[in-house]
Amino acid sequence: MKVRKPPLRSCLGCGREADKRELVRFVRTQDGEVHVDPSGKLNGRGGYVCATMQCFEAAVRKKRFATALHANLREDDVERLRREFEHTLST
Ligand SMILES: [Zn+2]
Repeated sequence: MKVRKPPLRSCLGCGREADKRELVRFVRTQDGEVHVDPSGKLNGRGGYVCATMQCFEAAVRKKRFATALHANLREDDVERLRREFEHTLST
């Protein structure tokens, strides 16, 4: 049996590469909004962050969402995403 290599993605916060199932996906949907995508199945440009607040905050601070998702996050978008992300971590 051939073992399939898990698809690796790098975290927007710390840059570490990990199996995408260990990371939380963010996606920019068609309407230009950025959402947390726990299913990993939403269509759109996506980016991954480790399942820790530190990496989320680092990604925000380094403006990695703007680079990776081509989305300009306003302060209230960041607030909303932070809540969505926290919710995802707690479930
Ligand atoms: Zn990370």
